[in-house]
Amino acid sequence: MSFSLLEIDKTHHIYSGHFSLFPEELAAHGLSGRKGGVSKAPWASLDLGLHVGDDPEAVAENRRRYLAALGLDAARFVTPEQVHGEHIARVGEAEAGRGALVYKDSIPETDALITNVPKLPLLLCFADCTPILFLDPVHRAVGIAHGGWKGTVRRIGQKTVARMHEEFGTKPEELLTAIGPSIGPCCYEIGPEVEAKFREAFPHHEAELFTNAEGKTHLSLWAANRIQLLDAGVLPEHIDEAKTCTSCHHEDFFSYRADGGRTGRMAAVIALRR
Ligand SMILES: [Zn+2]
Repeated sequence: MSFSLLEIDKTHHIYSGHFSLFPEELAAHGLSGRKGGVSKAPWASLDLGLHVGDDPEAVAENRRRYLAALGLDAARFVTPEQVHGEHIARVGEAEAGRGALVYKDSIPETDALITNVPKLPLLLCFADCTPILFLDPVHRAVGIAHGGWKGTVRRIGQKTVARMHEEFGTKPEELLTAIGPSIGPCCYEIGPEVEAKFREAFPHHEAELFTNAEGKTHLSLWAANRIQLLDAGVLPEHIDEAKTCTSCHHEDFFSYRADGGRTGRMAAVIALRR
């Protein structure tokens, strides 16, 4: 298993994160970098979020470029209005294009999408929060969850595994998963309230979750998401991890913290090829 940042569009110099665990013949996927788009500062340049004040035409061009570089149709992808909740939506052909061009047309108040429809890309936006990707190679289904600290502490990743089981018959031991680039334990300082919530939600995992640096507590969202995937029954060898901090690597990825709160959004995308 490995994660690599590949140049997928050599004309515009667009980079995309790729997990070797996901078979290319079954699904296209990617975690977008920040270079190669047309947005101006503070969204420079491959901003894929329509809700952060950027020029919508620039975002539309960025979306076209990025999806095309993945071999996907930017008019067909489905994206939700992410609210740091735990609602998971199953989408199908009827939802094709929801949120692709107009933000208010996004799937409302939803932080994870799942589908078994081929060539229907799912797209979620991130700037430090943790993208969690799912591929069931047996029942042919995919999903993406948005694991900010609120979604992570509410176990949205684990709940997405359960929902894929309900909807598609997904067996956790057959499911392939990946934890994308996001703010790492190196940079993610938290206060006592967040720490208390994670201690309550993930008892007996203090050593994996928390580190101390100069009297401050740092949290590993990567570990909290890995723990809940294991709790859901996903096999350790089926959890690929980018282990890439968006704040440390904010020249490659948008980072809410490193960029001072005003920045663009990277996207996690996955689509069944057939
Ligand atoms: Zn870092």
